[in-house]
Amino acid sequence: MHSLPETFNFAKEKNQDPYMKLHEHQAKEVISRFGVPIQLGKVAFSAEEAVEAAKNLYENATGKEWYVLKAQVHAGGRGKGGGVKLAKSLEEVKEKASEMIGMKLVTHQTGPEGKLVSRLLIAQDMFYPGPSEIKEYYFSITLDRVTGQNVIMASSEGGVDIEEVAAHHPEKIVKEHIDRAVGLPGFQARRIAFKLGFEGDGFKNAVKFIQKLYTAYEQCDCSMLEINPMLKTSDDKVIAVDCKMDIDDNALFRHKDLEAMRDLNEEDPLEVEAGAHNLNYINLDGNVGCMVNGAGLAMATMDVIKLSGGEPANFLDVGGGANPKTVEAGFRIILKDPRVEAILVNIFGGIVRCDRVAMGVVEAYKNIGEINVPIIVRLQGTNAEEGARIIDQSGLKVTSAITLAEAARKVKDAIGA
Ligand code: GDP
Ligand code: MG
Repeated sequence: MHSLPETFNFAKEKNQDPYMKLHEHQAKEVISRFGVPIQLGKVAFSAEEAVEAAKNLYENATGKEWYVLKAQVHAGGRGKGGGVKLAKSLEEVKEKASEMIGMKLVTHQTGPEGKLVSRLLIAQDMFYPGPSEIKEYYFSITLDRVTGQNVIMASSEGGVDIEEVAAHHPEKIVKEHIDRAVGLPGFQARRIAFKLGFEGDGFKNAVKFIQKLYTAYEQCDCSMLEINPMLKTSDDKVIAVDCKMDIDDNALFRHKDLEAMRDLNEEDPLEVEAGAHNLNYINLDGNVGCMVNGAGLAMATMDVIKLSGGEPANFLDVGGGANPKTVEAGFRIILKDPRVEAILVNIFGGIVRCDRVAMGVVEAYKNIGEINVPIIVRLQGTNAEEGARIIDQSGLKVTSAITLAEAARKVKDAIGA
């Protein structure tokens, strides 16, 4: 068996977006449609909206209610980073909401640059009157790619530090693999609730919670659904206090309502632009841009870049029909990344002829105008020589290559590696 190229795992790790993420307030709304009890709340985009939202949160409010304000960004660890705040009056809601909206929230998942907070979830404080009465659990469902089954992971040590629990007390994490053809049988839901230590009404509610959540996971084509904390109240109710939901991109066509929830502000702007041109693009942090047709060839090209001493700046698969339009869109996106020092175009001319691709490259180059980074174009397949000639005779700062080794050498020269 061949071992996987190094970049394969590398790209998988960096590939943050084979799925669409939802905000907590959206995810909670979605699971509540499936009957999962949630912490009641409402989204707000300004301090005024936050107060309005808070006013309507409690039935027969007495003015003594407490509220929790939660920054809505696509990252976890908000609690520790100052993205979850308690307010003990409507005045405090207003005050804290104005502090939070517009802030840059930095958590261990956002990177040092942080994320701009432009919406808040204003929710009922679930921990009132005091943490002694409640218990936090961790609960998640995701796909285990090794077994091809869904896996539920849960722990009675919920709250914020699940990574710590996983690292130091793996025995405290309950794992249950679910056969996707069968779904979640009652006995498995009960086994999980039992292992988590639920009893009495709490046990019954936990089982229902788990079953409904699993249904939501399946019906929404989630790739991940995580509740942390899953809360047991003093009166044995089981409630989702946080919810992170990722939806498989490839299934979005059958979830128009979920697709409409997409918040493009949370995504990499270059990836959004690429998506609009139907390009499979993933932004990485290297210095050599690549444009390739076919995902496998793109992976191999990234390996070649690494072997020549560079680091791939992106993954870009322009698809089968590499025409002048897609090539131009690809160039424009790659060139917006300031880290790019050279671009390697690696196209296999099977259905699309190399001479046509070469003409596309030349045309795109001329349309874009000034390009200050060297471009190496390796064309192989139908009419490869003809393609190379077009590139070489164009008079542009584009170098052709026929073999991959030659392309690698030219990339190396271009970046001075
Ligand atoms: P995360 O840090 O991004 O996962 O955000 P969570 O929604 O899980 O909130 C983090 C932490 O904030 C929780 O573990 C609680 O300690 C706290 N928190 C969340 N909701 C409430 C609430 O209703 N009341 C109080 N007092 N604290 C809360
Ligand atoms: Mg959480």
